[in-house]
Amino acid sequence: MARIYNFSAGPSMLPEAVLVKAQQEMLDWRGSGMSVMEMSHRGKHFMAIAETMKNDLIELMAIPANYKVLFLQGGASAQFAMIPQNILNGKTTACYVNTGAWSTSAIKEAGKYCEVKTVASSEEGKFTGIPAFEKWRIDPAAAYLHYTSNETIHGVEFNQVPEAGGLPLVCDMSSNILSRSVDVGRYGIIYAGTQKNMGPSGVTVVIVREDLVGLAPKSVPSVFNYQQQANSDSMLNTPATYNWYLLGLVLQWLKAEGGVAAIEQRNIQKADKLYQAIDQSSLYSNPVDKDCRSRMNIPFVLADAALDKEFLKQAELNGLSTLAGHRSVGGMRASIYNAMPEAGVDALIEFMAEFERSH
Ligand code: PMP
Repeated sequence: MARIYNFSAGPSMLPEAVLVKAQQEMLDWRGSGMSVMEMSHRGKHFMAIAETMKNDLIELMAIPANYKVLFLQGGASAQFAMIPQNILNGKTTACYVNTGAWSTSAIKEAGKYCEVKTVASSEEGKFTGIPAFEKWRIDPAAAYLHYTSNETIHGVEFNQVPEAGGLPLVCDMSSNILSRSVDVGRYGIIYAGTQKNMGPSGVTVVIVREDLVGLAPKSVPSVFNYQQQANSDSMLNTPATYNWYLLGLVLQWLKAEGGVAAIEQRNIQKADKLYQAIDQSSLYSNPVDKDCRSRMNIPFVLADAALDKEFLKQAELNGLSTLAGHRSVGGMRASIYNAMPEAGVDALIEFMAEFERSH
C-alpha cells in the first residue's frame, strides 16, 4: 500500500490513524456485532458515539455552556441560507465582509432573504488581502455581521477576530476550524463543513449562541430551524450516522495529538516553511498580503504558466497529489490541513526546489 500526500482542498486527507481505527471497527463496533453504519441512530451504541463526539468538540474548542452545538446536513452552503432564515428576527438587513469566493457565495445566498450590506470588500485587489477594520462600515441596525475566517480558494485568513460593532458575529470557519485556538465566546454563530479538518464530507457543525436560537419564523422548514434541531439533538431527521462516527474519531485523534493549541503550532511550522520556500524561489510566488496568508490553503503561481501542466504531472509522479489551483484562479494550491503531516510539506518543498532547478 502506498498512500500519497493529498493536497486537496476538501474532501481532503484524513489522519491515517483514523482510517485504521475505522477499518478495525468496520465489521464489529466494540462488541456490538455490527458496523456503525447499520446501527439505529436511536440505539444505545450510536447514542454513546454521538454524545462522546459532541463532548469532545465542546472540550477541544472550549465551547461555553450558553451555546448549542448542532450537526446538520447540506454543508456550509445550507448555512448560507439558514443563517438569515434563522436570525434576521424581523430585521431586513445583514452585514457581510467580502474577502473571497466563499464570502461572495454567502452574500449571494443571503440576498434571497434580506438586503445585504457589504461592509468591506477586497474584490478590487483580487482578494489578496483583508480590508482594514477601521474602514468597515457596519450598520448598527443590521441583524448580524458575517465573515469567512479562511478563504479556501484565495488563501486569505483572518489572524484577528473582527469587531462586530455590537452585532452578533457570524463566521464561516469551514476551512480553518480546529486548526487554531478560537475564543468561541466572541461569536454568535460559528459554522463549518466537516470535509477539511474534521472528517469526510456530509456533516456541518453549527455552534449557535442561545439567544440566536428560537428566532426563526414558522415558515422555516423544521430541519432548517436551529431551535427544532437543538431540541432534538440534531436528530430531527436521520443523521449521517457514519460521518458522525468518523468526525468523532478525528476529534479523538486531535485530542491524542495534544488538542488545538498543539496542532496550531504544527500548522504554523508547516505553513511558514512552505511560504519561505515560495518567497525564496524565483519560479514560485504567492500574491496574498503577508499578514493574512492562510495556514491552511497556500496558493502559488509559476512565473511561466506554460510549466503548470508539467509541474502537476511531475508532482503526481512523486506522490504529491491534487495541487492544481481552483479553476477560478488557476495556478497551484497546496491545502495543508491538520491531517497533512509535516513530512508531506517537506516532500512538496523538496519537489518544488528540484523542479525549479531542472526547469
Ligand atoms: N465555505 C468555505 C470557506 C468553503 O471552503 C466551502 C467548501 N470548500 C464552503 C463554504 C462550501 O461548503 P459545502 O460544500 O460543504 O457546502
